[in-house]
Amino acid sequence: MMRPASRLLIAAAIVSLIAGCTRVRVNRTANAPNTSVQAIRYATLSNLPVSALVRGADTSRRLDVAAMVWLVRRPDGRVVLMDAGFYRDKFLQRWKPSDFLRPSEAVRLAGVRPEDVTDIIVSHVHWDHMDGADLFPGARIWIQRDEYAHHLDDDGRVLDRAVDSLDAVMLASLKRAGRVQLVEGDDQEIMPGIRVYTGGKHTYASQFATVQTPDGTIVLASDNAYLYENLDQRRPIAQTLDSLSNLRAQDRMKMLASSLRLIVPGHDPEVFTRFAAKGDSNPKVVRIR
Ligand SMILES: [Zn+2]
Repeated sequence: MMRPASRLLIAAAIVSLIAGCTRVRVNRTANAPNTSVQAIRYATLSNLPVSALVRGADTSRRLDVAAMVWLVRRPDGRVVLMDAGFYRDKFLQRWKPSDFLRPSEAVRLAGVRPEDVTDIIVSHVHWDHMDGADLFPGARIWIQRDEYAHHLDDDGRVLDRAVDSLDAVMLASLKRAGRVQLVEGDDQEIMPGIRVYTGGKHTYASQFATVQTPDGTIVLASDNAYLYENLDQRRPIAQTLDSLSNLRAQDRMKMLASSLRLIVPGHDPEVFTRFAAKGDSNPKVVRIR
C-alpha cells in the first residue's frame, strides 16, 4: 500500500512529466507554425540495378527510381528547394528519363513559379541534383564550401569528375554573380528552421537537411540515403566514398527525425505511395507535412 502523501507526490510527478513533454513539443514547433514540405517527382529513371543503390543488394533486382526535388515553404515567405534536378539535353539523351518535366515546370504543380524560389539547397554536385539550379532566376544557391572547392574552381574548371563540366561552368558563373552561398561545414542552421549536415559521403561533402515543421522534424536525405531499404536494413548506399561514414550519417538521420517515417530518401518511388493523398494513385506531388 502507498501512503496518500506518496500517491500525491507520484501524481504530481506524472502531471509535471506530461506538462514537460507538452512543453518540449510546443518549443520544438513554435517557430514553424505553417511550414510545408513536399516531394515533387519530375522524372523516372527506369530499370536501375538496386545494387547500384544499396550495397550488397541482389544484383538481379531492378527498380524504376524517382527523380525528385523537395519544396519547403516557410511562414516567413521563403520558398526553398532542396536540389534542383536536371534538364540539359546531354543528360536527357544519355539517361532517357520517362515522365520528364523540367524541374522549373514541375514546381508549378505545387503552385510555385520558378521565379518564386528564393533558395536552393544543393545536396551535392551530381548532375541529377544540381543541373537545374540555373532554372530558378531568383534563387540563392546553398552548397558546402568543401563540396564546391573539391569539385571545381571559380573559372568553372572541373577538379573532380563527380561534377559534370557543364554544371561546373554553370555553378561557377552563379558564384561570380554573387548567388552562391557557401556553407561552412556540419550542423549549420542556414535559415530559420532549416539545418544542414555533412558526413553522408555520397560525394566529398554531400549534405542532408532537416526542416522543423509543426508536426516535428523532417529529414531530407537526398542521395545520402537513396532508398527506404538503406535505412530499414541499415545498408550503406552503393555509391559512397566511405561506407561507415554513410551508415553513421543514416543513424544520425534517425536521431534527428521526429519519427522514422519523416526521413525522406533521395530516389525511392515509394515516397509517392506513402504520402499520397487518399484516392490519388500516381501523384507527382506529395505533402510530407
Ligand atoms: Zn548523387
